[in-house]
Amino acid sequence: MSNVLIIGAGGVGRVVAHKCAMNAATFGDITLASRTKSKCDAIALEIKQKWGVSIKTAAIDADDKTALIKLIAAEKAKIVLNIALPYQDLTIMDACAAAKVDYLDTANYESPELAKFEYKEQWARFDLFKNAGATALLGSGFDPGVTNAFSAYALKHYFDEIYYLDILDCNAGDHGYPFATNFNPEINLREVSAKGRYWENGKWIETDPLSVKIVWDYPEVGEKDSYLLYHEELESLVKNIKGLKRARFFMTFGQSYLTHMRCLENVGMLGIKPVDHKGAQIVPIEFLKTLLPDPATLGARTKGKTNIGCVFEGVKNGKKRKVYIYNVCDHEACYREVFSQAVSYTTGVPAMIGAKLILEGKWKKAGVWNMENFDPDPFMDELNKQGLPYNVIEIND
Ligand code: NDP
Repeated sequence: MSNVLIIGAGGVGRVVAHKCAMNAATFGDITLASRTKSKCDAIALEIKQKWGVSIKTAAIDADDKTALIKLIAAEKAKIVLNIALPYQDLTIMDACAAAKVDYLDTANYESPELAKFEYKEQWARFDLFKNAGATALLGSGFDPGVTNAFSAYALKHYFDEIYYLDILDCNAGDHGYPFATNFNPEINLREVSAKGRYWENGKWIETDPLSVKIVWDYPEVGEKDSYLLYHEELESLVKNIKGLKRARFFMTFGQSYLTHMRCLENVGMLGIKPVDHKGAQIVPIEFLKTLLPDPATLGARTKGKTNIGCVFEGVKNGKKRKVYIYNVCDHEACYREVFSQAVSYTTGVPAMIGAKLILEGKWKKAGVWNMENFDPDPFMDELNKQGLPYNVIEIND
């Protein structure tokens, strides 16, 4: 049996804890640890009542490497699932390498002081993990995560070469609030308000924030305005999927979300530098997070569906081909299963699957890896079994 330590008890952490408990044959003792232990205790109670599985809880400051190493040893964890924030990635990775245990996260490292994410510092830890004989799996959520696995799967089964990739992320859910974010508001708003970027003909092209829009007809959802954003999986995919001529990422936003975001930006509420307020130093975006609804509480009131997928164009046996692989997820069905909305669900389920495959030895390889570095087939099988079934359609333009 392999003990698992989950760090972070927000919207996604809740789903990961539930899903690990639902796969008790793979996971040994499950410990859920976070900065605020009461959140872990509430989730543990929920899991005991729903699945009859007892999980342990602990308080941890994941910015403290020494405390992490102690907790990993105390819990005899074989793997740590980092479901806290991207700010903690490097400390948790370093603690795992020191303790010689496996590591997994769902979001690329980002410094609180700089709204920019890249894999450089995480990839630089390759030798550290290699020498420790431990696996670090980066970005095992939906996007990044499932979108990377879809890409590896498309290349393995549908194409000899992929030339064009569009990742299309639609959340058509309605939570009834004038403005709220579906995952951590600080991380979400930093991502959406940043400049867009896509890969074309061997270089990155930068665009003004939300200045490129397409309308895409999402199966089971309908036509939605979709805006070009820079998204972290593009960095690893252009490196690992050889021959890509263009790779882009689009996400849907409603007009109300965009109007609120622009207004907040215009008045300085998305600022990440401290400002003086009556003698106290406050970071505007951190204060905004305090005011906004907690994404972990949206589940009970969100209706509608998400549809996230990838459209690939390339060649197979000398013939042009276009294939769309996507998943549709229903907010209310997710809530019925694990008390969470679909954005947390679509992130938490792949995190559990990634951990399962590492522990089963199917994705066990010393070093630091992205999802597309592994055989996609066992992952795709698990998606179908664990609540995120996928569809594949050929598009004939
Ligand atoms: P939340 O803000 O809801 O939860 C974050 C959790 O981490 C909270 O429990 C928080 O504790 C805890 N935490 C924060 N800092 C520390 C720390 N220093 N030590 C210990 N615990 C800490 O976020 P979400 O659940 O919405 O998102 C979790 C992660 O998932 C994020 O990294 C996000 O970027 C990623 N994500 C990835 C997606 C994908 O598809 N790949 C999609 C959506 C999200 P406290 O409650 O005390 O603040």
